[in-house]
Amino acid sequence: MTENKPDMNIMSNIAISSIIRAYHCPRQYYFHKELKFKPSESYTVCKQVSCAYPDHTEEEIWNMIILIQPDISPDARSFLSSCICAMTHTPIRPWTETDITVKSDKVGIYGLLDKYDALSGEYTLTRCTTAPKNGCWPDDAIRTAALLICIEETSAKRLKGMYIEYIPSGIIRYYEPTPKDRRRLIQIIRQIQDVNRGLFPSKPLHPPCDSCKYYEKCEKNKPKTLSFLFKK
Ligand code: SF4
Repeated sequence: MTENKPDMNIMSNIAISSIIRAYHCPRQYYFHKELKFKPSESYTVCKQVSCAYPDHTEEEIWNMIILIQPDISPDARSFLSSCICAMTHTPIRPWTETDITVKSDKVGIYGLLDKYDALSGEYTLTRCTTAPKNGCWPDDAIRTAALLICIEETSAKRLKGMYIEYIPSGIIRYYEPTPKDRRRLIQIIRQIQDVNRGLFPSKPLHPPCDSCKYYEKCEKNKPKTLSFLFKK
């Protein structure tokens, strides 16, 4: 596994995970940005399924998962079983490197690329959600657009698209970002830059408030700057 250490330039850039949060609602990014990051258990499980060798048993994959995320809930074991079952007839995307940090100084973003296969020159994004009926989910379109911009700059390769593995569904799709995806990405980066300057973002047209863990905070707080986050 290759992992490039983030340099100072990366630290001042915007993480692609933050872009996705702001894509759902820029206020979620506003409320989340000061909290500690905790890796998703379902992602850890799917990532390990996606990187397992064909002769790995479920027990071996689970032992590896515990090693990677020691505090993972035992309940995640049944999710692992269902993912392995879903992937039974789906050949996993090949890889020679995983978890590669890529960045774009031009756009000011960075992210972690799940898989790169040096033999084919192909890249893969691993997702822990089920697949949509067709194509990819809108936030995966933004992820793909952002990663491809970073890859183009990091490796000087121009790629049309990348593979997306929807592990819980056992489905792999190839997606080529559209100009609309790239335009939306640039809009979100601007919104994040505004939040980082201390502005409180407006509500988007269709915010996902019903499932939002910041609902109460959002209703109570309508400040003009970030300063309220530091008040007791
Ligand atoms: S409650 Fe709605 S508007 Fe507020 S942060 Fe959540 S999704 Fe955004």
